[in-house]
Parts: sequence; structure tokens; C-alpha cells
Amino acid sequence: MPVTRIMPTEESADLIELTREILGKELRPVVSELDATASFPRDVFRTLGRAGLLSLPYPEEYDGGGQSYEVYLQVLEEVASASASVGVGVSVHILSCFGLFTAGSAAQKERWLPEMLSGDLLGAYCLSEAHAGSDPAAMRTRAVLDGDEYVLNGAKAWTTHGGKADFYKVMARTGEGSRGISCFLVPADSPGLSADNPERKMGLMSSTTATMIFEEVRIPAERRLGAEGQGLPIALSGLDAGRLGIAAVATGLAQEALEVAVKYAREREAFGRSIIEHQGLAFLLADMAAAVASARATYLAAARLKDAGRAYSHEASIAKLVCTDNAMKVTTDAVQVLGGAGYTKDFPTERYMREAKVMQIFEGTNQIQRLVISRGLAH
Ligand SMILES: Cc1cc2nc3c(=O)[nH]c(=O)nc-3n(C[C@H](O)[C@H](O)[C@H](O)COP(=O)(O)OP(=O)(O)OC[C@H]3O[C@@H](n4cnc5c(N)ncnc54)[C@H](O)[C@@H]3O)c2cc1C
Repeated sequence: MPVTRIMPTEESADLIELTREILGKELRPVVSELDATASFPRDVFRTLGRAGLLSLPYPEEYDGGGQSYEVYLQVLEEVASASASVGVGVSVHILSCFGLFTAGSAAQKERWLPEMLSGDLLGAYCLSEAHAGSDPAAMRTRAVLDGDEYVLNGAKAWTTHGGKADFYKVMARTGEGSRGISCFLVPADSPGLSADNPERKMGLMSSTTATMIFEEVRIPAERRLGAEGQGLPIALSGLDAGRLGIAAVATGLAQEALEVAVKYAREREAFGRSIIEHQGLAFLLADMAAAVASARATYLAAARLKDAGRAYSHEASIAKLVCTDNAMKVTTDAVQVLGGAGYTKDFPTERYMREAKVMQIFEGTNQIQRLVISRGLAH
């Protein structure tokens, strides 16, 4: 019996098939090489963009794909099963367009959104700073109004696509406290904006992460999204949606690890039979399959709430927590199923394990998700 993958809905089946086809040709054959050389596959994002896969959850009137979040996340899971790095990249791009879509004026959306969703451009999201990760309200990067321009100074840490993106959604301080933060759309070619050397990470090697440095970067005031002081709510509501993206990415990664482990366990023999015939190992695989399926159910349930226009922040945190913790466990167990081979670079399981770890850290660490969930329970 085949390992159950995502069960496509009527709406998502063709898109998942298209994604599988594109990535089967362009990404899967090179994914280990990209990891080994820490190369960022910008051309793969262009192909995905031209196929309409970088704009799925946005309305067609802005050149988006007009799909529900439920469909978008299923496609994203498929992308991440081919490459977690590219899956994270797609999620971050979608997140970087979210502020303009939700908080931009009609004129701002008409002017910039179609270009951002055209598939040629890639976005990035700048919230974190070196001393302000879990606590973004402690940020120091400043935007000071000077005539009809803001002047930005500071540094935004950990930017996924830092130095590679075409535009940056940036949160910067225009006043004091958590209500003194505003949101800006900053073009990559703005004078004074530069990327520091990429971080040397343990995983997600083909996703570039760098600190973005702002030195007297002048941005027309019309590039501020929402009112002054609304930046943190804009950022945090984007993160609710972004957390669902990471949940889907983690599930795609775990699904792939499960499939590699099951295939190996069917073929590898010990004590005269395939290792999957040993109950001690088979039960490990059963728990992995249950972890993947139950994780998927949490992100789909939260996405359906979002699509129905209902509050979903609590469920998004549950999905992010469950999917990423399950992905860490499933990928770790996949290494175990492969034994010594799983610990080598001859098989992808060690990469999956390295990639899973960061999912518990970014878009709000899993401690922060527990904080959000428990606060919801207290009221
Ligand atoms: C590969 C990568 C890509 C990233 N991409 C982006 C990006 O594109 N844009 C962006 O803005 N940021 C990005 N980040 C940053 C990421 O969101 C932060 O790393 C994360 O929010 C944690 O912040 P921190 O690293 O400063 O950890 P800290 O906030 O210093 O936390 C350290 C530890 O303390 C725990 N902790 C902190 N506060 C509490 C609390 N109140 N209760 C319990 N435990 C707590 C944390 O859970 C963690 O375990 C990325 C990070 C990585 C590693």
C-alpha cells in the first residue's frame, strides 16, 4: 500500500499536479547539490512565478491566483516536499505581499500589487532584529519623516531572501512602544540599503538568510502601509497567515521523510527479513505516518477558518506548533529508520532533520506559539 500523501481537493488537484511536474523537472534533481553548495535557486522561483504559483491566495483582480488558503497551503506542502528551502521561500514571498493586500489603500494596491504578484519579483519580510526576535516590539530600526519621505536607519536581522529579494516589507520605529512601529514597502534598489554576508546555517542551505542594513534609506511617504503606528498589528496578522505557511512546509518535509523511510524499511533486510517486518521498527513508522496525517489536519482546519473569514489566530499557532514539532520528530526518526545510512549524506534524511529544526524557531518560536495558545485559553 502506498504511503498516503495529501488528498487533493477538486480545486487543488490540478495545481498540485502542475507543481509536482515543474519541480520534478527543475528542482528535485538538483536539490542535494543546492544544499551542498548553499546555492539560492532564483530561476526556480521565476518558473513557479510564471506558472502562477507565487500568487495563489490573492484575488485575480490584482493578478493573483484567486485560490483559497486551503488550496494554496496544499500546493505549498507539495513544493516543500521537493525542497523545504523553496517552500519557505514561497511562504515568505506570500507573507511579504500580505501587508500591502490587507493594509494598503486601493491606490497602493493597484499600483504595486500586480507587479509583486506577477511572478517576476520576489519579496522579503523584515521584522526581526539582532536583539528583538521573539519580542519584535523591542526593535530599534527607525523611520523618520523628512518632508514627504521617510529616512530609515538600522538593521533587520535574519531576512529570508536578504540581498536576493526585489522588495522588502519592513517594520520600523516611527514612535515609542509597540504602537510606535510602522510598515513600509522598500524597493531593493533603494540607495543606502545593503545586505550583510549571508548567515552560515545548519540547514535550509538553499534559502539565503542575511541582515539587511539601512543607512539613510529614503522612502517616499506613500510607501508606508496603513497609518503610522499600525506596523506591529500588520506584521502580526501577517504572521498568523505565515505560520500556516510554515505548518504546510513542515508537513511537506515530514511527508517526504516518511516516504524515504518507508521505502528503505521495505528494502533493507536484517535477521532474514525486511526491517519493516520487525514490529519495533514498524511501530516507529506507524507513529511517523500518524504524526504527518494529524499535523496536516491542523493546518487544513485553520485554513478553512481563515477562508470562512473567521478568527484563526489560535488555530494557526496550534498548527505551527504541531506541524513543526511533528516534522522534527518524524525527520529524526527517519534517520533512525535508515540506521548508519541515515546519518550520511548519501541519503537525504540528515538534510531533512537539519531543515526541520528551524521550523520550530522562525515565524515565532514554538515557545511563543505555546504562549499565544495558552493566552487564548485564559480568556
Ligand atoms: C533561517 C531563519 C530565517 C528567518 N527568516 C526571518 C525573516 O524572513 N524575517 C524575520 O523578520 N525574521 C526571520 N527570522 C528570525 C526568527 O523569526 C527569529 O529567530 C525568532 O523569532 C526567534 O528570535 P531570536 O532568534 O531572537 O530568539 P530569542 O527571542 O532570543 O529567543 C531565544 C529563546 O528564548 C525563548 N523565549 C523568548 N521569549 C520567551 C518567552 N516569553 N517565553 C518563553 N520562551 C521565550 C525562545 O523561544 C528561544 O528558545 C529567521 C530566523 C532564521 C533562523
